Amino acid sequence: MSRFWSQVVRDLTPYVPGEQPKITNLIKLNTNENPYPPSPRVLTAIQAELGNDAAQLRLYPDPNADLLKNTIAKLHDITAQQVFVGNGSDEVLAHVFMALLKHDAPILFPDITYSFYPVYCGLYNVAHQTIPLDDDFTIKPKDYCDRPNGGIIFPNPNAPTGRLLPLAAIEQILQGNPDSVVVVDEAYVDFGGETAIGLVNRYDNLLVVHTLSKSRSLAGLRVGFAVGHPDLIEALERVKNSFNSYPLDRLAIVGAIAAIEDEAHFETTRQAVIASRTQLTENLRTLGFKVLPSAANFIFVQHPQSEASTLANKLRERNIIVRHFKSPRIDQFLRITVGTDAECTALVEALRDILH
Ligand SMILES: *Cc1c(COP(=O)(O)O)cnc(C)c1O
Repeated sequence: MSRFWSQVVRDLTPYVPGEQPKITNLIKLNTNENPYPPSPRVLTAIQAELGNDAAQLRLYPDPNADLLKNTIAKLHDITAQQVFVGNGSDEVLAHVFMALLKHDAPILFPDITYSFYPVYCGLYNVAHQTIPLDDDFTIKPKDYCDRPNGGIIFPNPNAPTGRLLPLAAIEQILQGNPDSVVVVDEAYVDFGGETAIGLVNRYDNLLVVHTLSKSRSLAGLRVGFAVGHPDLIEALERVKNSFNSYPLDRLAIVGAIAAIEDEAHFETTRQAVIASRTQLTENLRTLGFKVLPSAANFIFVQHPQSEASTLANKLRERNIIVRHFKSPRIDQFLRITVGTDAECTALVEALRDILH
């Protein structure tokens, strides 16, 4: 704290990201990164961008990243006017709060959800109301209908639970809220859900947010996007152009395009993660864990006889890191990212050892 701090900064409670340790030899299952490398085409594209004419970096990138928007539009069978791109989906989400969720009525999101949402509310002074998940940790659509609100946001699959809401339930929320923007954060949808992007032509109040950080293995490149009615996209462009005209650098633009175009790599790695998730779930249930059904690249688990924080600490002593949230309702759970099969095996062996 210093007398130079603005009042806004004094009042902020910033998001605390999962740890990115500087030491190597760790089995890192704490921030839902993909255990597989990105498509080799990403590196080729980035090298070409650098190598063709190194002087390219002298020039600003395309402020609208049109080539990337066209690639995303083609992938999802929509128009480029329905696409907004940003420096990671966290940046896209920040603009969403400012552009589309800041109104007089409070916005709604689940009590257990991505912990960045309340942080954006603090930054942009957006009133919010949390809606408790059901006892089985699912979102109940009717809880989001017939309740005046300034907008609705939730991840699907939800984080950190991994639980999936079917598209029919999302439509119920959309139909119950024709005068609010409904934001579906699909960071994990490629690991087991069906995207709501197919609904954007029918619902002008739907905005779907995606990231290349998880299913495209590009957390380090920082690329995210939103899809919705062109009027919603225009609102995001207005905020972006009042904040940073060039959120995506030249390397990120070409790398993202290459990743999206390599459908085969995407499919292979996605299926590998899904298969490992099934196996890991089974192995942890054998050890007595309760594992919530997950449609994401992580699982949310609880052991009836063991304190979650103790388990996390003991795993850490064995160089395995997982995520533990000290929050109400979920402080006895661990969120574990699905790693490679070797990493999952090491985790299961360590837990077997700890529990005995
Ligand atoms: C990982 C994650 C994001 C952020 O992804 P970036 O594109 O890396 O900023 C957004 N929403 C949820 C729910 C996430 O888990």
